[in-house]
Amino acid sequence: MSEESFHHALLVAWLVTALAVFVALFRITAPYGRHTRSGWGPTVRSTAGWIVMETPALAGFVAMFALAARPVGAAGVAFLALWVGHYGYRALLYPALRRGGDRPMPLAVALMGLTFNLGNAYLNGRWLFALGPPHGAGWLTDPRFLAGAALFVAGFAAHVHSDRVLATLRRPGETEYRIPSRGLHRLVASPNYFGEIVQWWGWALATWSLPGLAFAVWTTANLLPRARAHRAWYRRTFADYPEERRALIPFVF
Ligand code: NDP
Repeated sequence: MSEESFHHALLVAWLVTALAVFVALFRITAPYGRHTRSGWGPTVRSTAGWIVMETPALAGFVAMFALAARPVGAAGVAFLALWVGHYGYRALLYPALRRGGDRPMPLAVALMGLTFNLGNAYLNGRWLFALGPPHGAGWLTDPRFLAGAALFVAGFAAHVHSDRVLATLRRPGETEYRIPSRGLHRLVASPNYFGEIVQWWGWALATWSLPGLAFAVWTTANLLPRARAHRAWYRRTFADYPEERRALIPFVF
Protein backbone atom coordinates (compact mmCIF):
# COMPACT_ATOMS: atom_id res chain seq x y z
CA MET A 1 0.00 0.00 0.00
CA SER A 2 1.39 3.42 -0.90
CA GLU A 3 1.60 6.10 1.76
CA GLU A 4 -1.05 8.12 -0.13
CA SER A 5 -3.51 5.20 0.15
CA PHE A 6 -2.66 4.67 3.81
CA HIS A 7 -3.16 8.37 4.57
CA HIS A 8 -6.49 8.38 2.72
CA ALA A 9 -7.74 5.24 4.49
CA LEU A 10 -6.73 6.65 7.89
CA LEU A 11 -8.49 9.91 7.12
CA VAL A 12 -11.74 8.15 6.22
CA ALA A 13 -11.52 6.02 9.39
CA TRP A 14 -10.80 9.21 11.36
CA LEU A 15 -13.94 10.93 10.12
CA VAL A 16 -16.15 7.89 10.69
CA THR A 17 -14.75 7.52 14.22
CA ALA A 18 -15.43 11.21 14.93
CA LEU A 19 -19.10 10.73 14.09
CA ALA A 20 -19.32 7.60 16.27
CA VAL A 21 -17.59 9.45 19.12
CA PHE A 22 -20.01 12.36 18.78
CA VAL A 23 -23.00 10.05 19.29
CA ALA A 24 -21.30 8.09 22.11
CA LEU A 25 -20.30 11.20 24.07
CA PHE A 26 -23.93 12.24 24.50
CA ARG A 27 -24.37 9.02 26.51
CA ILE A 28 -20.94 8.63 28.17
CA THR A 29 -19.10 11.74 29.40
CA ALA A 30 -15.32 11.25 29.32
CA PRO A 31 -14.30 10.50 32.95
CA TYR A 32 -11.86 13.29 33.77
CA GLY A 33 -12.09 16.63 35.60
CA ARG A 34 -15.50 17.15 37.27
CA HIS A 35 -16.82 14.03 35.52
CA THR A 36 -14.13 11.75 37.03
CA ARG A 37 -15.55 8.47 38.34
CA SER A 38 -14.16 5.12 39.39
CA GLY A 39 -14.09 2.00 37.21
CA TRP A 40 -11.80 3.34 34.47
CA GLY A 41 -8.61 1.57 35.56
CA PRO A 42 -5.31 3.03 36.81
CA THR A 43 -4.94 6.79 37.09
CA VAL A 44 -2.23 9.41 36.73
CA ARG A 45 -2.07 12.95 38.11
CA SER A 46 -3.99 15.16 35.73
CA THR A 47 -1.07 17.55 35.11
CA ALA A 48 1.09 14.61 33.98
CA GLY A 49 -1.86 13.32 31.92
CA TRP A 50 -2.12 16.60 29.99
CA ILE A 51 1.62 16.62 29.20
CA VAL A 52 1.53 12.96 28.08
CA MET A 53 -1.54 13.56 25.91
CA GLU A 54 -0.54 16.77 24.20
CA THR A 55 3.24 16.63 23.71
CA PRO A 56 2.99 14.09 20.83
CA ALA A 57 0.88 16.58 18.86
CA LEU A 58 3.65 19.15 19.17
CA ALA A 59 6.53 16.74 18.48
CA GLY A 60 4.67 14.86 15.72
CA PHE A 61 3.84 17.95 13.67
CA VAL A 62 7.37 19.37 14.05
CA ALA A 63 8.71 15.97 12.89
CA MET A 64 6.44 16.09 9.80
CA PHE A 65 7.77 19.59 9.07
CA ALA A 66 11.38 18.43 9.50
CA LEU A 67 10.75 15.43 7.22
CA ALA A 68 9.04 17.57 4.54
CA ALA A 69 9.32 15.99 1.12
CA ARG A 70 9.64 19.40 -0.60
CA PRO A 71 10.42 23.05 0.22
CA VAL A 72 7.73 24.18 2.66
CA GLY A 73 7.82 27.90 1.80
CA ALA A 74 6.33 30.79 3.74
CA ALA A 75 2.86 29.20 3.93
CA GLY A 76 4.35 26.05 5.49
CA VAL A 77 6.14 28.16 8.07
CA ALA A 78 2.86 29.96 8.83
CA PHE A 79 1.08 26.60 9.39
CA LEU A 80 3.92 25.51 11.65
CA ALA A 81 3.71 28.75 13.63
CA LEU A 82 -0.06 28.37 14.19
CA TRP A 83 0.26 24.71 15.26
CA VAL A 84 3.29 25.22 17.49
CA GLY A 85 1.70 28.34 19.01
CA HIS A 86 -1.32 26.27 20.05
CA TYR A 87 0.43 23.08 21.13
CA GLY A 88 3.32 24.90 22.81
CA TYR A 89 0.62 26.44 24.99
CA ARG A 90 -1.48 23.29 25.43
CA ALA A 91 1.35 20.79 26.03
CA LEU A 92 3.82 22.87 28.02
CA LEU A 93 2.28 26.07 29.41
CA TYR A 94 -1.31 25.05 30.16
CA PRO A 95 -0.39 22.10 32.42
CA ALA A 96 1.78 24.44 34.48
CA LEU A 97 -0.87 27.19 34.71
CA ARG A 98 -3.94 25.12 35.61
CA ARG A 99 -4.80 24.52 39.25
CA GLY A 100 -5.95 21.26 40.84
CA GLY A 101 -3.35 19.16 39.04
CA ASP A 102 -3.29 16.41 41.66
CA ARG A 103 -6.79 15.28 40.69
CA PRO A 104 -6.49 11.77 39.18
CA MET A 105 -7.11 11.20 35.49
CA PRO A 106 -7.66 7.68 34.13
CA LEU A 107 -4.54 6.53 32.30
CA ALA A 108 -6.90 5.27 29.58
CA VAL A 109 -8.06 8.86 28.91
CA ALA A 110 -4.45 10.07 28.64
CA LEU A 111 -3.57 7.19 26.28
CA MET A 112 -6.61 7.83 24.10
CA GLY A 113 -5.65 11.50 23.91
CA LEU A 114 -2.06 10.55 23.04
CA THR A 115 -3.23 8.22 20.25
CA PHE A 116 -5.54 10.85 18.82
CA ASN A 117 -2.83 13.51 18.89
CA LEU A 118 -0.26 11.30 17.18
CA GLY A 119 -2.67 10.35 14.39
CA ASN A 120 -3.89 13.91 14.00
CA ALA A 121 -0.36 15.36 13.80
CA TYR A 122 0.50 12.76 11.16
CA LEU A 123 -2.66 13.37 9.12
CA ASN A 124 -2.30 17.15 9.13
CA GLY A 125 1.49 17.47 9.00
CA ARG A 126 2.09 14.85 6.37
CA TRP A 127 -0.65 16.27 4.17
CA LEU A 128 0.61 19.84 4.41
CA PHE A 129 4.32 19.09 3.98
CA ALA A 130 4.41 16.04 1.70
CA LEU A 131 1.23 14.45 0.34
CA GLY A 132 -1.20 17.30 -0.32
CA PRO A 133 -1.01 20.05 -2.94
CA PRO A 134 1.76 22.56 -2.14
CA HIS A 135 0.72 25.98 -0.81
CA GLY A 136 2.88 28.64 -2.49
CA ALA A 137 3.70 32.01 -0.88
CA GLY A 138 0.61 33.45 -2.65
CA TRP A 139 -1.57 31.34 -0.30
CA LEU A 140 -0.76 33.81 2.51
CA THR A 141 -2.89 36.47 0.81
CA ASP A 142 -5.69 34.09 -0.22
CA PRO A 143 -9.00 35.08 1.50
CA ARG A 144 -9.36 31.49 2.81
CA PHE A 145 -6.02 31.69 4.58
CA LEU A 146 -6.63 35.21 5.89
CA ALA A 147 -10.13 34.44 7.20
CA GLY A 148 -9.02 31.07 8.61
CA ALA A 149 -5.95 32.50 10.34
CA ALA A 150 -8.08 35.32 11.82
CA LEU A 151 -10.59 32.76 13.18
CA PHE A 152 -7.71 30.66 14.52
CA VAL A 153 -6.17 33.59 16.40
CA ALA A 154 -9.55 34.80 17.72
CA GLY A 155 -10.45 31.28 18.91
CA PHE A 156 -7.04 30.84 20.51
CA ALA A 157 -7.37 34.16 22.37
CA ALA A 158 -10.87 33.17 23.56
CA HIS A 159 -9.85 29.78 24.90
CA VAL A 160 -6.62 30.95 26.53
CA HIS A 161 -8.46 33.78 28.28
CA SER A 162 -11.25 31.43 29.35
CA ASP A 163 -8.71 28.86 30.64
CA ARG A 164 -7.10 31.68 32.63
CA VAL A 165 -10.38 32.77 34.18
CA LEU A 166 -10.95 29.17 35.36
CA ALA A 167 -7.42 28.84 36.77
CA THR A 168 -7.83 32.02 38.84
CA LEU A 169 -11.03 30.68 40.48
CA ARG A 170 -8.74 28.52 42.63
CA ARG A 171 -5.86 29.37 44.89
CA PRO A 172 -2.82 27.08 44.50
CA GLY A 173 -3.64 23.68 46.02
CA GLU A 174 -7.45 24.13 45.90
CA THR A 175 -9.66 21.73 43.96
CA GLU A 176 -13.12 23.27 44.59
CA TYR A 177 -15.37 24.47 41.79
CA ARG A 178 -16.93 27.96 41.69
CA ILE A 179 -19.18 29.80 39.23
CA PRO A 180 -16.99 31.72 36.76
CA SER A 181 -18.27 35.18 35.87
CA ARG A 182 -15.66 36.92 33.72
CA GLY A 183 -15.31 37.28 29.94
CA LEU A 184 -17.18 34.78 27.78
CA HIS A 185 -18.00 32.74 30.89
CA ARG A 186 -20.88 35.21 31.38
CA LEU A 187 -22.47 33.85 28.20
CA VAL A 188 -21.68 30.11 28.11
CA ALA A 189 -20.65 27.29 30.43
CA SER A 190 -17.62 26.30 28.33
CA PRO A 191 -16.12 29.29 26.48
CA ASN A 192 -12.73 27.52 26.42
CA TYR A 193 -14.35 24.78 24.30
CA PHE A 194 -16.08 27.38 22.12
CA GLY A 195 -12.75 29.12 21.44
CA GLU A 196 -11.05 25.81 20.70
CA ILE A 197 -13.77 24.81 18.20
CA VAL A 198 -13.62 28.20 16.43
CA GLN A 199 -9.85 27.85 16.27
CA TRP A 200 -9.84 24.47 14.51
CA TRP A 201 -12.57 25.46 12.04
CA GLY A 202 -10.24 28.40 11.29
CA TRP A 203 -7.45 25.87 10.75
CA ALA A 204 -9.64 23.88 8.34
CA LEU A 205 -10.26 27.07 6.35
CA ALA A 206 -6.66 28.32 6.47
CA THR A 207 -5.25 24.97 5.30
CA TRP A 208 -8.21 24.22 2.98
CA SER A 209 -7.58 20.55 3.61
CA LEU A 210 -9.55 17.40 4.47
CA PRO A 211 -7.26 16.57 7.43
CA GLY A 212 -7.91 20.11 8.74
CA LEU A 213 -11.65 19.57 8.30
CA ALA A 214 -11.43 16.20 10.07
CA PHE A 215 -9.69 17.87 13.02
CA ALA A 216 -12.42 20.52 13.24
CA VAL A 217 -15.12 17.82 13.12
CA TRP A 218 -13.31 15.80 15.83
CA THR A 219 -12.94 18.83 18.09
CA THR A 220 -16.64 19.64 17.75
CA ALA A 221 -17.63 15.98 18.25
CA ASN A 222 -15.54 15.85 21.40
CA LEU A 223 -16.37 19.18 23.00
CA LEU A 224 -20.00 19.91 22.09
CA PRO A 225 -21.47 17.01 24.13
CA ARG A 226 -19.02 17.76 26.96
CA ALA A 227 -20.08 21.43 27.08
CA ARG A 228 -23.68 20.23 27.40
CA ALA A 229 -22.65 17.91 30.26
CA HIS A 230 -20.74 20.77 31.95
CA ARG A 231 -23.79 23.04 31.86
CA ALA A 232 -26.03 20.31 33.28
CA TRP A 233 -23.43 19.70 36.03
CA TYR A 234 -23.29 23.43 36.91
CA ARG A 235 -27.09 23.58 37.15
CA ARG A 236 -27.22 20.48 39.35
CA THR A 237 -24.37 21.72 41.57
CA PHE A 238 -25.13 25.43 42.04
CA ALA A 239 -28.69 26.59 42.82
CA ASP A 240 -27.71 30.15 41.77
CA TYR A 241 -26.17 29.19 38.41
CA PRO A 242 -27.45 31.74 35.82
CA GLU A 243 -30.27 30.06 33.93
CA GLU A 244 -29.79 32.07 30.73
CA ARG A 245 -26.17 30.93 30.36
CA ARG A 246 -25.95 28.59 27.36
CA ALA A 247 -23.65 25.54 27.10
CA LEU A 248 -21.31 26.38 24.21
CA ILE A 249 -22.46 28.93 21.62
CA PRO A 250 -23.49 32.31 23.00
CA PHE A 251 -27.31 32.84 22.79
CA VAL A 252 -27.74 29.69 20.65
CA PHE A 253 -26.80 26.41 22.35
P1 NDP B 1 -12.53 22.25 31.73
O1 NDP B 1 -13.20 23.54 31.42
O2 NDP B 1 -13.38 21.13 32.21
O3 NDP B 1 -11.40 22.48 32.86
C1 NDP B 1 -10.33 23.36 32.61
C2 NDP B 1 -9.58 23.61 33.92
O4 NDP B 1 -10.31 24.52 34.75
C3 NDP B 1 -9.37 22.38 34.79
O5 NDP B 1 -8.16 22.53 35.51
C4 NDP B 1 -10.56 22.38 35.73
O6 NDP B 1 -10.31 21.70 36.94
C5 NDP B 1 -10.71 23.88 35.97
N1 NDP B 1 -12.11 24.28 36.17
C6 NDP B 1 -13.11 24.10 35.30
N2 NDP B 1 -14.26 24.62 35.77
C7 NDP B 1 -13.97 25.15 36.99
C8 NDP B 1 -14.74 25.82 37.97
N3 NDP B 1 -16.03 26.07 37.78
N4 NDP B 1 -14.13 26.21 39.12
C9 NDP B 1 -12.81 25.96 39.30
N5 NDP B 1 -12.01 25.33 38.39
C10 NDP B 1 -12.59 24.93 37.24
O7 NDP B 1 -11.69 21.86 30.43
P2 NDP B 1 -10.92 20.49 30.05
O8 NDP B 1 -10.07 20.10 31.21
O9 NDP B 1 -11.87 19.51 29.45
O10 NDP B 1 -10.03 21.03 28.83
C11 NDP B 1 -8.95 21.90 29.05
C12 NDP B 1 -8.58 22.59 27.75
O11 NDP B 1 -8.25 21.64 26.75
C13 NDP B 1 -9.70 23.46 27.18
O12 NDP B 1 -9.20 24.71 26.74
C14 NDP B 1 -10.24 22.65 26.01
O13 NDP B 1 -10.72 23.49 24.99
C15 NDP B 1 -9.02 21.82 25.58
N6 NDP B 1 -9.44 20.54 25.03
C16 NDP B 1 -9.41 20.34 23.68
C17 NDP B 1 -9.86 19.17 23.11
C18 NDP B 1 -9.91 18.98 21.62
O14 NDP B 1 -10.55 18.03 21.17
N7 NDP B 1 -9.26 19.81 20.81
C19 NDP B 1 -10.32 18.07 23.96
C20 NDP B 1 -10.35 18.37 25.37
C21 NDP B 1 -9.91 19.57 25.86
P3 NDP B 1 -10.58 20.10 37.07
O15 NDP B 1 -9.59 19.44 36.16
O16 NDP B 1 -10.34 19.86 38.53
O17 NDP B 1 -12.01 19.87 36.63
